[in-house]
Amino acid sequence: MVIGAGLAGAAMAQCLTTRGWRVDLFDAASGPAQAASALPVGMLSPHVTRAPTPLSELSALGVAHTRAELQRLLTPGRGWQACEVDNWGHDPGRWPAALVRPSALVQAWLAEAQATGHLTCHWNSHVHALQARNGVWCLQDASQHTLGEAPAVVLAAALGSAALLQALSGPSDWRPWPLHPVKGQMSLGAQQGEPLAPRPQRNNGVFVPRYEDANMPAPWPQRLWSMGSTYDRGQANTEVTEDAHARNAKSLRLLLSAHEAGQAPALDDAPWQGWAGVRCASLDRLPIAGAVPDVAALLAQVNQLGAHRTRLDLSQVPRLPGVYALTALGSRGLTLAHWCAQQLALQMDNQTHPAPHDLWRCVDPARFVWKQSRRQEGRKPAPASVASTKL
Ligand SMILES: Cc1cc2nc3c(=O)[nH]c(=O)nc-3n(C[C@H](O)[C@H](O)[C@H](O)COP(=O)(O)OP(=O)(O)OC[C@H]3O[C@@H](n4cnc5c(N)ncnc54)[C@H](O)[C@@H]3O)c2cc1C
Repeated sequence: MVIGAGLAGAAMAQCLTTRGWRVDLFDAASGPAQAASALPVGMLSPHVTRAPTPLSELSALGVAHTRAELQRLLTPGRGWQACEVDNWGHDPGRWPAALVRPSALVQAWLAEAQATGHLTCHWNSHVHALQARNGVWCLQDASQHTLGEAPAVVLAAALGSAALLQALSGPSDWRPWPLHPVKGQMSLGAQQGEPLAPRPQRNNGVFVPRYEDANMPAPWPQRLWSMGSTYDRGQANTEVTEDAHARNAKSLRLLLSAHEAGQAPALDDAPWQGWAGVRCASLDRLPIAGAVPDVAALLAQVNQLGAHRTRLDLSQVPRLPGVYALTALGSRGLTLAHWCAQQLALQMDNQTHPAPHDLWRCVDPARFVWKQSRRQEGRKPAPASVASTKL
């Protein structure tokens, strides 16, 4: 079972079905890519830093990987186009990039999964609880009706994963899932005449002077410019506001005036369109991908180890059998979703994955609770979670 049908869930469904798994995909919405992955157009580009960081290394792998997926699955002009981006912030330069409509990739991955005959989609299926029952995992809706049962489940529901993971973690006062919402609004409009810049420009936000997509769904124009996106930590609503348009307009004017490009379209020239969504970000801004820890069992282990608890390696943290997560893709879902899904599918098949060991540790879902356990004084173990006792 995979919960969530955005970039993360669709990538997971594609990777698992093509490896022979039968997948039931559940989403609260009436179809795929209706939350953050409904973004009209996003950018696939490397995360450039002076010295390598885990995110810059992951991004380098992810960009090349997604680029290959785009070339394999989508026709240029129908869901994506290659470009370069002028980076004006720290480490200025011109980098190869691509403009992508995420829903096009989601649909392509789901179509590929459907073609295997191994995918069943369940729309309008909000997963309220995840419980272990007789050796399988059981998904329930708010009325405690069973939505599905299977020996393995992947939580790919962005912020919606947090409540499910927290419930699985038992009543400990640790914070194993430091996930938070970051609202973003993109401003866009129909692009007419000469584009205002020869290529996308990035500083505080990204200006896309022209993006064309023959399959662009309504209400968006087939040829558009866009400026975005705002970054409002802690906000989880999707209301499009004039204030966010004004902030995007300011960033756009600054970008264009600083780089001798054209005049920004005035806010009152033509009505700007807007799209707002909510990113799911983790405390360390890295994705969460891998096997979910058994927090109650870890707590008991740490208490037993006492002063020697710091000897416990991340790889030794006990896991809930059959529970995995792929979430917290932040502002980089296009870069990270499929690469992480592929590594996770290999892990689920008990195959060694080609990801560098240290990088896979950086995205391990157990990293937060493991770090906390090394700092904590011995404490009374919480009652073992329902999940771990029953499976
Ligand atoms: C304004 C803005 C600009 C962005 N720009 C870029 C960009 O340029 N490049 C880039 O790479 N990324 C960008 N992103 C980020 C990108 O959109 C996300 O990283 C990506 O879409 C996350 O995919 P996801 O599948 O994890 O989450 P989502 O697409 O949000 O999907 C989660 C799914 O889970 C479902 N769900 C949630 N809870 C439950 C539940 N309990 N039961 C059942 N279903 C549930 C939801 O209905 C939803 O379909 C941007 C985001 C925003 C908001």
